[in-house]
Amino acid sequence: MYNLYENETQSQKNRGFMEKSVKKRFQTYLRNRGNTVTHQRNIILDEIMKKKSHFDIDSFVSTINRKGRDVSRATVYRTIQQLEDAGIVRKIDFDKGYANYEIIPGKEHHEHLVCSECGKIIEFSDKSFEKRIRAIAECNEFTMEHHSVEIFGKCSECREKHRKESLKKEKI
Ligand SMILES: [Zn+2]
Ligand SMILES: [Zn+2]
Repeated sequence: MYNLYENETQSQKNRGFMEKSVKKRFQTYLRNRGNTVTHQRNIILDEIMKKKSHFDIDSFVSTINRKGRDVSRATVYRTIQQLEDAGIVRKIDFDKGYANYEIIPGKEHHEHLVCSECGKIIEFSDKSFEKRIRAIAECNEFTMEHHSVEIFGKCSECREKHRKESLKKEKI
């Protein structure tokens, strides 16, 4: 098991290639459904590809608008749904009452540890864990399409904070 952030040094060339293939994939997806890539959809996809971590729709819309680009929330919402459908973006539930998203291409498949106190998210990837998940699906004669695992609890920093607080209480 390792933290993915340490493994994220991707060359500029690879990134350019990845971005082109993502755009092409979205174009094909839209064309097959009788849609076209509009200027607004392009802006949204460009911004998503710049995101290194998870994002939610509301903060994403304010980032775009802060940059002086006028894209409505409804357009962002719809485009992200299409990107999800095209397999470019995935939705994750961090138990916050609203959905979070992250881009799939260019990133290794991973799961999440979510601190329910400070909101910190740790990504992890584990080959034997993935193997078990596939085996469990198979055992149940289940065809897995995708999966996401979110583990909720307290991160090391929050644990330390609690430990210090309870020590203080003991002294009183
Ligand atoms: Zn925490
Ligand atoms: Zn993630």
